[in-house]
Amino acid sequence: MGKGTAEITVKAVAGLMVSGAKKVLAQADELLAKVKKEKGADANISFPETAFYLPLANALLGAEVKTAADAAKVLATAGTLVIKDVPAEDQWTAFLKDSLNAGVAAMLSEEIICAARYVYGDEPQADCPGFFSDTILRALGIQLVDGRISGIAVILGKAPDAATAVNIVRDLQKRNILTILGGSVDGVSIIDQLKEGGLTMGLDSYVVPFGRDTISVVYVLNFAIRAALSFGGIKAGNAKACVDYVRERVPAFVLLLGGVDEVKAATGAGALAAGVPIITDLDLPEVRVAGVCAHEECLVREPDYKKIVQKAIEVRGIKVKVAKVPIPVPFSAAFEGERVRKENMFVQFGAKYSAAFEYLRMKKMDEVEDGKITVVGPEIDVMNEGSSCPMAIVVDVAGRKMLMDFEPILERQIHKFLNYAMGVFHMGQRDMNWLRISKDAKKAGFKIRHFGDILVAKLHDEYGAIVDKVQVTIYTNEDDVKRLMPEARKVFTVRDERLAGMTDESVDTFYSCTLCQSFAPDHVCVVSPERLGLCGAYSWLDAKAAHEITPTGGNQPIKKGSVVDPVKGIWQGVNSFVFNASHQHTSQMAAYSIMESPMTSCGCFECIVAIVPEANGVMIVNREYTGETPAGMGFTTLAGSVGGGNQTPGFLGVGRLYIVSKKFISAEDGLKRVVWMPRELKDALADRLKARCAQLGMPELFDKIADESVTTDAAALVEYLATVNHPALSLPPLM
Ligand code: SF4
Repeated sequence: MGKGTAEITVKAVAGLMVSGAKKVLAQADELLAKVKKEKGADANISFPETAFYLPLANALLGAEVKTAADAAKVLATAGTLVIKDVPAEDQWTAFLKDSLNAGVAAMLSEEIICAARYVYGDEPQADCPGFFSDTILRALGIQLVDGRISGIAVILGKAPDAATAVNIVRDLQKRNILTILGGSVDGVSIIDQLKEGGLTMGLDSYVVPFGRDTISVVYVLNFAIRAALSFGGIKAGNAKACVDYVRERVPAFVLLLGGVDEVKAATGAGALAAGVPIITDLDLPEVRVAGVCAHEECLVREPDYKKIVQKAIEVRGIKVKVAKVPIPVPFSAAFEGERVRKENMFVQFGAKYSAAFEYLRMKKMDEVEDGKITVVGPEIDVMNEGSSCPMAIVVDVAGRKMLMDFEPILERQIHKFLNYAMGVFHMGQRDMNWLRISKDAKKAGFKIRHFGDILVAKLHDEYGAIVDKVQVTIYTNEDDVKRLMPEARKVFTVRDERLAGMTDESVDTFYSCTLCQSFAPDHVCVVSPERLGLCGAYSWLDAKAAHEITPTGGNQPIKKGSVVDPVKGIWQGVNSFVFNASHQHTSQMAAYSIMESPMTSCGCFECIVAIVPEANGVMIVNREYTGETPAGMGFTTLAGSVGGGNQTPGFLGVGRLYIVSKKFISAEDGLKRVVWMPRELKDALADRLKARCAQLGMPELFDKIADESVTTDAAALVEYLATVNHPALSLPPLM
């Protein structure tokens, strides 16, 4: 019978647990007496197809129950676990322990009741498979281990209506959580609600009913405890190790819905004793006791049915894996290097064509609604074929182990993950990204919101160790994109400044980045404190953090080893690492030279540095600049000859911030060689450039660097440099 619960106190709950345990014990006693009387003390008491007897009795007590007489001994032991008197209100914590023991007694009794029902053919119940055989245990256990099943939900009771029941179970299915359900409140069972709602139940759909009464929920508990014996190799009778195993290895939780009675309370106590938390829609007092459940929360309230599954996942600390990314085009690493050419493009975002950025930020747990994807502004259906549209992708993540330091690493994965979708092309990062969706992808039903689906699924999938919740908001209105851009840029700057003061000499380890090998298979970025990755998204700290998150990933530590040439920045350890990581393509890399063994470039560079032989210097052009340059080529043409993972002496792909580093082509006199750069780039770096010029003792150098307003012609540039007495003209010859 359901019970109004507003007035229920902790003591009252504990009291219910104890009285429920006594009731179940009495019921087991009575049924067993009946079996003994009608079938004899030697009557077979067992479950079908298991080598673990009555699994709970076997695991917790070491008992090998085969007959009614054996079961009676277990019941006698269970009886000793139930306290006789209910203590005072202020002693509830100690009392809770006693009531959990009562829960253990209830579980042992329920197991005997279910086994005895088999004697009379009363199990399995209609629509239910009954006891889970060892074969099912193994099949499901393997799926739990390999991540196909991310957790086990036990729903006990009823939802307010059939639609809510279906929605809760769908929420669990979406997260690959095996749902085992049953019980009833006031004669209504969630099993029948799901039948009414048309939801298919069965092992294949990960929705399995156990029975319409509370007692048969013991099938779930003896399933979980068998995992300890079977997969954990724990000896029968080692109760503590078995319970510890379930607490730590079986990611299960109970959703107690619609009402509580004493049998449910006693059974719930059994679940709590096994470290399985209970999340309920009832107005019960919350209980948090360290060491009982994954996150010290045992009994937690969540009256909002839309949030109850997420709450349970958080309380139990389940890491959800989405096996299949829910998008209408094929999705695999095989598509990562695929390009979407202009003639196949339906719509594009960013680069020089429209305002765009992508930004991932850490939020508090309660600020992120996991899986929420919102598109603010027009969807692809109302975009014109061949058009360029604005876009901001804002990803909010939360996680117990998430750190601000991890933001740039996760943000950089947007590049990789979006490229996995067939018909989607992504390039660049931050506020220099570029995306295209192909006509075929649009025809297949690909929408802007699917960017969100990809990011939610993949961030959970690959970064589940640090990410618990992900929500994505995609803005496609120009006003929104421009309004939000400054916040993102501010954060990008703060991230870039974290390294201030660190030098390459102060560390003995650099980091590799091979994330771009999908496009340029032989390219290796060597990231040092004074030279960030050429995409501008990976500093030395970022690469270090990325290595901590994924020790076997694309960011590996590189011991510098012995110095080959301190001026050019050549180390024996770096050379051998690059040789291997570039598939024997590059045998030597000079970190500080553009002319000798320069670092290779992929295609993600923020800027290209190119020699201007006539001026005995170099020019720098940024990705956004669309005009001509003194090298006789625009950015796009230059990029074609610089990228691809090749060393091209005289040309270098770089991150913007490397330009203001002391190590910027320092083997060739650094900034003093820079004779030309676009106005926008010069303005963007103005403060830092001026500071560097001052450090060099040449504060006037900043103004001597020409831009497109001076000229884009090499000969005219040389004339100009002579008039301003640019230092490049008097440096040793570059070639
Ligand atoms: S450009 Fe370099 S640092 Fe950036 S993601 Fe690619 S390989 Fe890594």
